[in-house]
Amino acid sequence: MNYILLGPPGAGKGTQAKKIVEYFAIVHLSTGDMFREAKKSNEALSKFLSSGQLVPDEIVINMIKERLEKDDIKKGFLFDGFPRTIKQTEELEIILKSKNLKIDAVFLINIYFEEVIKRITGRRVCECGTSYNIGMIPSKEDGKCDRCGRKLIQRNDDKEDVAKERFTVYGKQTKPLIGYYKKIGLLVNIEGAKDEKDVFEQIKRHIKAKNDK
Ligand SMILES: [Zn+2]
Repeated sequence: MNYILLGPPGAGKGTQAKKIVEYFAIVHLSTGDMFREAKKSNEALSKFLSSGQLVPDEIVINMIKERLEKDDIKKGFLFDGFPRTIKQTEELEIILKSKNLKIDAVFLINIYFEEVIKRITGRRVCECGTSYNIGMIPSKEDGKCDRCGRKLIQRNDDKEDVAKERFTVYGKQTKPLIGYYKKIGLLVNIEGAKDEKDVFEQIKRHIKAKNDK
């Protein structure tokens, strides 16, 4: 059971990733988490991340290579945030082949641009770590945290123009990957404009159908 999860920012990828790895007891390979961890000891990486630049393929690939050396991945794994480029996709193929491993499916959470922008720009967060969404999970009192009463804020990343830019970058980067995985028959389209339970059900159904054979 080895999978890749793709989807634009705001599609609920993080939530789905958590559900999948918990339900199927596989390992969550999140490049976001790996970056945060590696940043502490890797100065070059730290520089890229704090400048908001894309981390070069070589650094990402080496990190993945190292991670795949660990024994726990034998339980199965889910890539989240990787691969991002065609170069990364091809390198991953080589690494997996050398270990006699393969990807079983690539889940693509499809969601319209308008829906994503609505979700992202509706996000509000509190210093205490609680997050809300104006349309979906509002706080009881407008602009105030239910847990601690502090004022809710909108992160810079969630402002409309930044959100649009992130979506555009995602589209440009990911399109070739989608084509690649479609061509080799691994792509599974997931309807993402539903609530998180429905989205997970679609993924679960697919994994179960494949593994019950
Ligand atoms: Zn709070």
